[in-house]
Amino acid sequence: MLSRKSERHPGESSDRRTLSVADPPEMSHELFVGLSSLRDTLSSRHHSRDFAFAHAHYLRSRVLALGIIFTLLSPLWIVVDSLVLPAGLLRYTLLGRVVLMLGLLTVLVLALFSMERIRRIRFCAGMLLALPAGFYVLVLLMLPQQAVQELVGYGFIPFLLVASLSVFPFTLLESFCAGLAMLVLLGFSQMMDGSWMTGQGVEEVWLLSSLLAVAMAANHFQLSLLLRLYRQATHDPLTGLFNRGALEVHLEKIQAWQREIEGAGEAGSAPCSVLMLDLDHFKRINDTYGHSVGDNVLCQFARILTGQTRKHDCVARYGGEEFVVILLGSDQPRALEVAERIRYAVEAFEFLDRDHRRVPVTTSIGVTELRQDEPPQDALKRADVALYRAKEAGRNRALPAETTGEEVTLV
Ligand code: GH3
Ligand code: MG
Ligand code: MG
Repeated sequence: MLSRKSERHPGESSDRRTLSVADPPEMSHELFVGLSSLRDTLSSRHHSRDFAFAHAHYLRSRVLALGIIFTLLSPLWIVVDSLVLPAGLLRYTLLGRVVLMLGLLTVLVLALFSMERIRRIRFCAGMLLALPAGFYVLVLLMLPQQAVQELVGYGFIPFLLVASLSVFPFTLLESFCAGLAMLVLLGFSQMMDGSWMTGQGVEEVWLLSSLLAVAMAANHFQLSLLLRLYRQATHDPLTGLFNRGALEVHLEKIQAWQREIEGAGEAGSAPCSVLMLDLDHFKRINDTYGHSVGDNVLCQFARILTGQTRKHDCVARYGGEEFVVILLGSDQPRALEVAERIRYAVEAFEFLDRDHRRVPVTTSIGVTELRQDEPPQDALKRADVALYRAKEAGRNRALPAETTGEEVTLV
């Protein structure tokens, strides 16, 4: 999301000439934070599932806020109608107003009980705009032709709805589609009141289009900011991987998913394994080659981990030079095979220092299976104990939890 040029790691030298192969490569950031912000805000196609939840949560709070405002304004509109509309027109609008209010209340209740339901929250946001628009269309259709000009304060409904778009963290495509619908609504109302293609009509279309452009700019900045805050809160800035907090939340979600699969019956169980990895003698690497080479090793190591795992597996930086990999659908024997593959890939990889000399790097790995009914911390602890045993046994190896001395020798 951030432009790669403007992104700078804490502690990175401001003098670009001092950069060499030993400096932390920005490549790993490309995976997570180097996406162009326009692509990110245009549609939700490139958003991760985790961000989709965070986004929906934020959208829901906006739906509730605007829903309450619209619902409270509805009876007020009835009072205004009774003051400004001729008595003959009131009977057409009053029933519509009441139906609109009930519809808004339903949307409010639905949003209130849609905590983790991404689709339902989007539907509520859409309905919040569609209901007043639908009400306006109905009034226009029901009123006798000559009475349409007597309506006071209805023409501003498309403008109000387009202005409301800027309150939501909609994607640009969503806002554009909603804005187009409002332009159609405006055109329809102009045809009904006879101002279509007149000077006033063109002026209104121009005004609504300008308002839509401003609302879309607001959407873009709002969503960009949301993405940036989300990434800063959940990702490690050096490697671009998930951080420890995000990992723990993710583990709970995986357990919920496991329980769901188990509950579904015929699909069977969904095993999941946890790998805890620690670089061997990393302090020595820092002391011998310098911190920037150490940082570079961490970034390359992160890339090896993402390269050796599948898209739906999760790779996180757990602490300084400790990493965690979650393998979805893998039981412990399978996870041990993957761990050994990673161990070998790290040992075989050519990490280089500033002078292009090889930096020997190895990793020790503890492996355990995640049980769906235990606190995630317990699985992490078991993997950590297995990792400790791997260190004790001489490092550069993968060991399972709970079994004694059974070392994997697959290559
Ligand atoms: P062991 O094989 O037992 O794991 O030995 P070790 O030297 O890897 O373990 P130790 O915990 O003593 O050292 C970890 C080092 O990792 C110390 C710390 O300075 C370094 N480290 C932690 N975070 C970073 C970082 O972001 N960048 C760099 N360059 N070094 C880091
Ligand atoms: Mg270490
Ligand atoms: Mg360590």
